[in-house]
Amino acid sequence: MRVSIDSTTCQGHGRCYDLAPDLFGEDEEGYATLTEVTADQDVPSDREHDARLAAANCPESAVLVHEQARV
Ligand code: SF4
Repeated sequence: MRVSIDSTTCQGHGRCYDLAPDLFGEDEEGYATLTEVTADQDVPSDREHDARLAAANCPESAVLVHEQARV
């Protein structure tokens, strides 16, 4: 499983990085970013629950979950 941020819809509410600060960060304006844990690799299996939680709690549906593992 991978995650990405749709930067065209992210409004910087911060719920994602409040819920899972190891998976999501923020830029200088508060918009979500990926972190070293999520930027170039699959979400660790023991962190998938919180990745899904962040996606479910994003008011803009800007946290995208990609179920297929990176190949
Ligand atoms: S919760 Fe959604 S809108 Fe808020 S910072 Fe995260 S991705 Fe952006």
